[in-house]
Formats: sequence, structure tokens, C-alpha cells
Amino acid sequence: MPFFLRHSPLRVRMTIFLSCCVVVFIVIAYALFETSNNRIVTLCAIPVMVACCLFRLRNASLCTLIILLVSAGLLTLHIHTLQWPVPLIEGFSFGALVIGMELACFSFLTVSLNLSDAARQQSRHAEQQLNLAYEQQQQLEELRDQFLMSVSHELRTPLTEVRGYINLLLEYGNRLDEATQSSFLQSASYGCDELELIIGNVLNMSRVGKDLKPICMQELPLAATIAEICEHVYLQDHSLELNIDADLTVLADRQQLRQVLRNLISNACKYSPAHTSVVVCASPWEDNMVRFCVKDYGAGIGAADVPHLFQKFSRLKRDIASSVRGTGLGLYISKQFVEGMGGRIWVESEGVPGKGSSFYFTLRQPSTTR
Ligand code: ADP
Repeated sequence: MPFFLRHSPLRVRMTIFLSCCVVVFIVIAYALFETSNNRIVTLCAIPVMVACCLFRLRNASLCTLIILLVSAGLLTLHIHTLQWPVPLIEGFSFGALVIGMELACFSFLTVSLNLSDAARQQSRHAEQQLNLAYEQQQQLEELRDQFLMSVSHELRTPLTEVRGYINLLLEYGNRLDEATQSSFLQSASYGCDELELIIGNVLNMSRVGKDLKPICMQELPLAATIAEICEHVYLQDHSLELNIDADLTVLADRQQLRQVLRNLISNACKYSPAHTSVVVCASPWEDNMVRFCVKDYGAGIGAADVPHLFQKFSRLKRDIASSVRGTGLGLYISKQFVEGMGGRIWVESEGVPGKGSSFYFTLRQPSTTR
């Protein structure tokens, strides 16, 4: 009897069981009344076996009891008295004992089959988990390789620049005029700034979730702080416009604010054409916050790309394919820093080339300290 029938609906199982009972009892009744063969009652072992296959032990026991009662009823009808002769009582008791044992054996078999079924399912589940873990590990390894490749590529380019200018100065320094020497030194210094920014982002990424909280929140005079930060940002061929409300102060970690502004200004320069301007503004904002804005006039960012922008390693498709270098970490780290300092960061862009993008972030003013 197929044990999988156990998982079919109760209606189906009841139909199978009752059909079996009807057939068997018709045969028993026929044999009993036509041939007076009492032993035919042993056929009721068949519906008991079916009940064991179809139902749990409790219900199978109940079915067995009903089958025995029906058999006893048929025998009583056959001998026309409730007072059974001793051999019939003995025979019936023996039959009931055999059927009880059959019930126990079949139930044991069913339980064993169920257990082995459960064990098989568990091992299949464990195998699936193992495959999933293996795939995840492979994805992680791929991500790590990709990350190492892009970081080493990122580092190599400014490093080559720095080394190139220093070598030029070492080799031809005394033959170069003062203005060229200082321009070479300035370029080498910008290369170092870029290296510092990339290394800062990479180091901070490994700290995300551990100790990226602001270390030293302090009241900063905004105009002076931003001017000082912007002095050390490599603007490529862009002009920088500062539009900061005088006398505005902000509560921030200086190093983190510096890293956020450098990331945003560096992006504004990287992703907009040369000789356009980058505007940095800061003004009071709702809830006693200060709102910063870094605006460029580049290609802009499409609405579909905005939700992915602040995620780890996220770069726009158009930039992955271009020669503009990037690790996809700057905005992610900036978001962690801004949120750590109690602010919010977002971007607004129509995605129209030339109209560019505006990156905004907010920080608290000192009076709102809690
Ligand atoms: P990176 O610049 O090193 O690739 P970021 O996290 O700073 O990493 O920026 C993620 C991506 O967002 C960039 O690769 C670029 O595709 C896009 N992006 C960032 N800033 C701008 C911007 N000002 N204009 C257009 N696209 C930008």
C-alpha cells in the first residue's frame, strides 16, 4: 500500500478506507451466510492494514476497533445469539490479537518511514544550505577580488602621477624655472591628496558597523572650516564657488565633515566637464539644522540610479565604462559619516546633461545638542 497516500486530503483517505471496508465486509458477509465459514472474518485484516497506511496511530486504532465491532456484529447475526460458543470466543479473541499485532507492526513501520522521510528532507535542506553558503562564499571572493583590483588601480594612478612629478623635479629640478617647479610640486601634492582620500575611504569602509561613530563632535565655524577644507581639494580644471552664510556654526566631527565634503567636491569635479563651476553652499535649515549643498553642472543622475547611489561599490553604468576612476565607496562612506553625526544625505538631479546634480546633507547646529 503506498504510504504517500497519507499526505492526500482526508476526504480521499476516508473514501479509500470506506470503499475497502464495504468490499471486504460484503465478501465476509457473503462467505459467512452462504458457506458458514467463520474463518473468513480474518479478511478484516485488510481494512486494518489500509487504515494503518492512511491514518495516524490513534485514528488507525479507532478504525480497527470499529472493524472488530462490525465483525463481531456479523458473527452475532450469523449465529443468531449473543451467547457465543467458547471456540468462537477463542477464535475471535485470537483473531483480534493478531489484528492488534498487525496494527502495532504497521504503525511502527509507518512511523519509521515518516522518520526516514523527515531525515531525507532534512539532509536535502542541509545540502541546499551548503550550496547556498558555497555560492555566497564564491560571490564574496569575487567581490573581494573586484574590490582589490579596483582599489589597486585607483591607488596606482595618483601614485604614478606623484612619482612622475617627483622624478621630473629630481632629474631636471635645477634646470626648471621656479614657477614650473612649484606647479610640479602642487600636482604631486594633489596626487597625495587623492591618495589620502582613497585610502581614507577604503579604511573607513572596513570600519563601517564597528567604530565609525564621530570621535570628536565640536562646534565648528562654518565659513572658515569649509574654506580651509576646500583649499586642499584638487579641483582639476574647475572653479569653486563658496556660498556660506557668515556666522553659521555647526556641530560636527571635523575629520568626517572634511571627508564628506572632499568626496562630494571630488565627485562634482570628476563627473562634470572641465571649466565648469562647482558650487558649495551652506545655510540654516529646518529643525535647527544646517543644510550643505555641493552642486555641479555635469551629466546629472537619472531617477532610476538614485536609489543605488549611496550603496557600497555602487557606480553608474556610464561611469564604469568610462575612463573616470572610482571605487564606488565615497558616497557610501559619506552617508555613514553624515548619519553618524545625526544628519541626512540625499541627491537631487533631473538627469539632464548640463544641469548637473546637487548633493545635499544636513548637520545639527550647536544649540540643538541633546
Ligand atoms: P566613485 O566616485 O569613487 O566611483 P562614489 O561613491 O563617490 O564613488 O560615487 C558613486 C557613483 O555615483 C560614481 O561612480 C558615479 O557614477 C556617481 N556619481 C557620484 N557623484 C556624481 C556626480 N556629482 N555626478 C554624476 N554622477 C555622480
